[in-house]
Amino acid sequence: IPSEIPETMRAAVVLEAGGPENFAWREVPVPTPAPNQVLVETAATGLNFIETYQRSGLYKVEYPFVPGSEASGTVVAVGDDVDNVAVGDRVATASGTATYAEFFVAPADKLLPVPDSIDLVEAAAIPLQGMTAHYLCRSTFEVTAGDEVFLTAGAGGVGQLLTQMCKHLGAKVYTAVSTDKKREIALAAGADGVFNYEDFGQRLKEVTGGRGVDVAYDGVGADTFDTSLESVRPRGMIVLFGAASGPVPPFDLQRLNAAGSLFATRPGLAYYTLTADEVAWRAGEIFGWLAEGALKLSVDQRFDLADAAEAHRTLESRATTGKTVLIP
Ligand code: NDP
Repeated sequence: IPSEIPETMRAAVVLEAGGPENFAWREVPVPTPAPNQVLVETAATGLNFIETYQRSGLYKVEYPFVPGSEASGTVVAVGDDVDNVAVGDRVATASGTATYAEFFVAPADKLLPVPDSIDLVEAAAIPLQGMTAHYLCRSTFEVTAGDEVFLTAGAGGVGQLLTQMCKHLGAKVYTAVSTDKKREIALAAGADGVFNYEDFGQRLKEVTGGRGVDVAYDGVGADTFDTSLESVRPRGMIVLFGAASGPVPPFDLQRLNAAGSLFATRPGLAYYTLTADEVAWRAGEIFGWLAEGALKLSVDQRFDLADAAEAHRTLESRATTGKTVLIP
């Protein structure tokens, strides 16, 4: 490691499972990249819902815990056997370790090279939320022209990106949001219909002439899953991709028959970014859409990394739209 890399850095550390008050701003060692890893100086860390699950204890982790997997920055050191990136490269990744810190390590084969035309802070919106939106509409259910799509939280991080991508693929997009402000944002992202959580099932029946949507992407979970399921057409797909309102209780598969021989899946990003080729294909399409203006990034909240607790409170109180980043 070159001498200008410090031995210690500051990081937002979760001391034990619980609320956002359990964050502390601490001095910790700068990690050393192992073979096939790089060390990156953080430009921005992407805030994601999973970190609230890890902080609260819904997902099991060991404390003290430095959260974060999505981030952008500049490569400052490379481990042995790394030949695809070099010191000085601008990169973003969803596979960083402990990115709520001034430096982080990441596997060299899970890095996206960030083109000069894209701001390094905005690039933090791409690796996790962008790639998630991409795999949902390109692979989990391959959206094509004329499809009718429902997705939850259309003003959110994944929601705005997924809306734009589905529109670009020629689909009709319907979503549900909780406030008038979010309604405007979802419409601006391209949604054809924006409904309330109270009556979106009824509204989806109306707009699809009773048929139901081809696919429902549900990232809200507990509060919406049953209605999402009932809004899918026969032999369509229900995709549960998150649990912003809490986990969906155990599920009787027979319900899929009763609802119209549906397909149900609970996908995760790791299984849709299995190889460097797959990562490069997804990133290539995303960067292409950004370059041609078919896709816009909305970094709507920027917090100091030292204020990670406040950022978590804001996300969990449903007060965010688009992407939230933490800046060291
Ligand atoms: P969002 O920006 O979408 O924020 C979450 C949104 O969920 C809120 O803004 C809110 O929008 C809605 N929501 C509904 N009920 C609640 C509730 N009780 N508490 C909080 N929010 C609620 O977050 P992300 O884009 O980061 O993530 C969206 C979902 O996607 C999450 O569930 C996340 O875990 C999941 N995810 C899954 C991945 C995967 O590969 N499976 C990868 C990345 C994210 P509104 O007020 O309009 O309802």
